[in-house]
Parts: sequence; C-alpha cells; structure tokens
Amino acid sequence: MILVTGGAGFIGSNLQAALATRGEETVVLDRLGSAGKWRNLARHPPSRIVHPDRVDDFLAADPPLDIVFHLGAVSTTTALDGDLVWTSNVGLSQRLWSWCAARRVRLIYASSAATYGDGTAGFRDDASLAYLQGLRPLNLYGWSKHAFDLWVARRLAAGDPHPPQWAGLKFFNVYGPNEYHKGPMISVVKVKHDEVAAGARPRLFRSDQADLPDGEQKRDFIWVGDVVAIMLWLMDTPAASGLFNVGTGRARSYRDLAQAVCRAAGAAAEVEFIDMPAPLRGQYQSFTEARVEALREAGYADAFTPLEEGVRRYVQDYLAGPDPYL
Ligand code: NAD
Repeated sequence: MILVTGGAGFIGSNLQAALATRGEETVVLDRLGSAGKWRNLARHPPSRIVHPDRVDDFLAADPPLDIVFHLGAVSTTTALDGDLVWTSNVGLSQRLWSWCAARRVRLIYASSAATYGDGTAGFRDDASLAYLQGLRPLNLYGWSKHAFDLWVARRLAAGDPHPPQWAGLKFFNVYGPNEYHKGPMISVVKVKHDEVAAGARPRLFRSDQADLPDGEQKRDFIWVGDVVAIMLWLMDTPAASGLFNVGTGRARSYRDLAQAVCRAAGAAAEVEFIDMPAPLRGQYQSFTEARVEALREAGYADAFTPLEEGVRRYVQDYLAGPDPYL
C-alpha cells in the first residue's frame, strides 16, 4: 500500500493516476475541499482518502505502507500565515520522517527550488549541512521547505535512524493538467493559455532588474509527466536516496514559454509587458536552473520533455479540449 499526501493536489493527483494505472493500492492524505479538487481524482480514485486532521489516527493504526510520497503542503509561495505553514510543511514532514524511520518505510518528499532563494549560492542539490546552511530562501514557503531539508541533514549528520530509502525532491516550475484549483499559484503556461484563448496577447512581467531585458527572466520549467516518471523511478530504485533537483537542467525564458503557448494554440506569437505586482518585487526568482547531475549519477536516464513539446501536449491534449483533467 502506498500513501500519497497531497494526493488530491496537482502533482499528487498526477502521481496517483500513474500509481492507479500500475494497479497499486493507494491512500491519499489530503482535503478534497470545495474548489473541485475531486475532479483531479475522478478518473483514478484512491482506495481511501484520509483528512489531514486524522493523520495521527491513521498512522497510529500502523497501516501496512511500502512507501510514502509526501507532497502535501501549503504550496503558496506568497503564504503569510507562518504558523499554518510551519505546521503543514515542517511539522507534518518531521512526523512522517520519524514514523517512516521507526517503521522502516520508504519516504519520498517534496522540497522546492524556492529553497535556493535568488540563486546566488547556486542550484546544487547538495545535501550537506554546510551547503544547505548557505541557502537563503526569499519567502516563508521556501524557508519552510528549506527548514525541513536542514532538519533532515542534521538528523543524518547525527546518525539518527532514517527511512530505508529517502529522497527530497527540489521541484522547479512544474506545469501540466490538474492544477486548476491553484488560483494565483497556477502555472504560467495555464495563465498564458487563458489570455490567448480569450483573444488577447500573453502578458509578461517587466523585469525588476536593470540589467535584465523584459521577458528574459528564466526558469527551469518541467512537464508534470517527467516529474511523475522520476518519482516512479525512485519507487523502483530503492537504493537511490538523497536530495535531488527535479528540473530539466535547462532554463528557458518566459518569452519562449509565452510564444510556445501561442504556437500550440494556433495564435500569433506576440507578447505584451506589464509591471510586476509590488508584493513580488525583490522576492522574485529571475533565474532558476536545476543541476541534474545527482539524479543522473543515481541512474535516472530518461530524457526530459522539451518545453515546446510539454506546452503543446498540455494545451492541445488538455486545455483546449472539453475536459482538461488527467
Ligand atoms: P497543490 O497545492 O496542488 O498540492 C498540495 C496539496 O497538499 C493540496 O491538495 C493541499 O490540500 C494538500 N495539503 C496541504 N496541507 C496538507 C496537510 N497538512 N496534509 C496533507 N495534505 C495537505 O500543489 P502542487 O503543485 O501539487 O505541489 C505538490 C508539492 O510539490 C508541494 O509540497 C509543493 O510545495 C511542492 N512543489 C511544487 C512545485 C510546482 O511547481 N507545482 C514546485 C516546487 C515544489
């Protein structure tokens, strides 16, 4: 049996679909809520859904889990409620780590590229305490993910018990179907597609840095299918443990992304620029690019889906159709 926390969310439901297709029995720990997240699971429902308030009861019953995929979190990069973010993103992660370590259950958890802050310390998925201590996340969300990575590094350095396989995944910018509940956190691909579908030109934020031209802010955008493939590979490769960047290894500009959306939707590839909202200025990552050597050295050999192909698939197979869900 497999536990997927956050399994009703974007990445979690894509993983849930893949596990269900493989015939695995899964339990989802998440809130379905009233924003239509049930649709993320409609085609591939799990055996059971446990509400986060009941996690202690669920774990106390000693469920026969083989592996935990821990994706549940407050995923909003603009979150301000520090108590909620700490409890959800750090407290629950610590609880699951300790439970998995004691029961010898494998744990794959979501960290984030937001832990790298403005990127001045690089994008190395180095799990050493010394390197991690040099990272400076720009917001509460990134800090919460970083705080758990650090907690793990301290426990490992102290020789404390750990899950028999553990992997922290620093997801970069993931895009693909089943993200429609995410409100302002929805991927730029979906936002730009909505603009183009409404007959407008896609709008991009002007650069907030004098030496960076508008539209040339770059991120490592990764197709959700590649993210799921990496998680399944980890499940099939119990010897692989560590902190892994999950990006393509190639930063692409927002301009490239917007133009790819236009082409996939059959529209003219013309972009318009608007001012960056005040809350984002100075907190905005203008460049992210995963170093993927750790994943490659661990043996993951599949190619990543190029941006143009992932965008084409997302737009034509999901967003432009009558039912955009996986
Ligand atoms: P999402 O918001 O769609 O999914 C997260 C899910 O976690 C939600 O369904 C939410 O209800 C659930 N959740 C919140 N608190 C919980 C709790 N205490 N217990 C159980 N579930 C809880 O976000 P997502 O994009 O699917 O992100 C999945 C994971 O990947 C998150 O940990 C997120 O921080 C991380 N991540 C995502 C991206 C991305 O580009 N989407 C990038 C970096 C990291």
